[in-house]
Amino acid sequence: MRVQTILNRVQKQPGFVYGAVRLGQARGTLVIEVEIRPRANHRLTCAGCAQPGPGYDTLAPRRFEFVPLWGIPVFFLYAMRRVQCRTCGVRVEAVPWAAGKHHLTTTYAWFLARWAKRLSWTEVAAAFRTTWEHVFRSVEMAVTWGQEHRDLTGITAIGIDEIQWRRGHTYLTLVYQLDAGGKRLLWLGEHRTVKTLLRFFRWLGQERRAALRFICSDMWKPYLRVVAKKAGHTLHILDRFHIMSHMSKAIDEVRAKEARDLKAHGYAPVLTHTRWLLLKRPEHLTEKQEPRPASPSCCATTCGRSGATSCGKTSSSSGPTCPPPGPGGSWTAGARAPCGPRSSP
Ligand SMILES: [Zn+2]
Repeated sequence: MRVQTILNRVQKQPGFVYGAVRLGQARGTLVIEVEIRPRANHRLTCAGCAQPGPGYDTLAPRRFEFVPLWGIPVFFLYAMRRVQCRTCGVRVEAVPWAAGKHHLTTTYAWFLARWAKRLSWTEVAAAFRTTWEHVFRSVEMAVTWGQEHRDLTGITAIGIDEIQWRRGHTYLTLVYQLDAGGKRLLWLGEHRTVKTLLRFFRWLGQERRAALRFICSDMWKPYLRVVAKKAGHTLHILDRFHIMSHMSKAIDEVRAKEARDLKAHGYAPVLTHTRWLLLKRPEHLTEKQEPRPASPSCCATTCGRSGATSCGKTSSSSGPTCPPPGPGGSWTAGARAPCGPRSSP
C-alpha cells in the first residue's frame, strides 16, 4: 500500500492532491516528505477573508509537520500561492491542512494537544521529536478553540481557589464550575486580590452572575469580600479545612489561657498537655490519656463547659452519675457522661 493511499484515507485535502513521497534527512534524522499540489480546477481563496480571488504569485515551498508515521517525522511540502484579494490586498492562500503561519498541520497540532493532557509539554516534545514551542502552540490553539466554542449557560455552582505559581508568594486565582455533570475550569486570573476576582465577575456578566446559587471558596479575605459584594444572593460554602483550623485555634487559645489561670490560682494543672486531647474523639483516647485526676475547678472552666470535663458530683435524681475523681473518673469522659444541669432531663 502506498503512503498516498493511507493519507487519502485518513486525511483527504479538498482541492489538493498528494504527490511524490520520499525519504529525506532533516536535522540529522530520517523524515518522510510528502509533496502536495493543487488540483487543476482549484480556485484560490484568501486566507484572510475566505473569498476567492485571482492568483498573484507563488512562494518557495514550505514544510508543514504532520503526525509521525512509524515514529518517522512526516512533512508536507507545498509552495504557497498568494491571492490578489479585493478586500485584503495581496494575501497568502487558504489551505485545508494548516491555519495562519503555523508550521504544524492542524491535525498534528490537535494530536500534540491531546497528548499534552496526559504528559508534560516537555515529555510530549521529546516523545514525538518536536519542539516545546510546537507543543505550546498546539495547546494554545486547542484552548482558543475551546474558549470560542464553550457553552456558558446553566452555571449555578462555582468554586474559587488559588494555586501557587512560580517561586514565592505568587498566585493564580482559579474558578471552576461545580454543577453536577458540568465540572470544568471556567476562568483563570493572575494574583488572588480583590481586583482579580472582580475581573472574573465582570467577565461572567450580570445575567450569568444572577443565575449563580452556590459558591465554594476558602476563607481568603479578598474572596469573601468580593463574593459578598457581587454575589450576596448565593449560598457561600466555606471549606471545612479552614473552619476546623480556626475552631481548633480558638479552642487552644481558651485552653492555654485557662491552664495559665489554674496555675496562677494554685489549682492542679489539669489542662496542661491536653492540647490534642481536647480535639480527639473520646473513643479514640488511649488508656493512658483517659484517666485524669479531676479538679473541682475543672467544671468552672470554659473547656469544661464545652462538654469535655466531668467532676465527682452526682447530677439530679434521674440524670446520669458522673464518674468519681481519680483513676476511675476522667475529665475527658465527660463527653460521654455529662453532668450538671446540662445533662438533667
Ligand atoms: Zn481577503
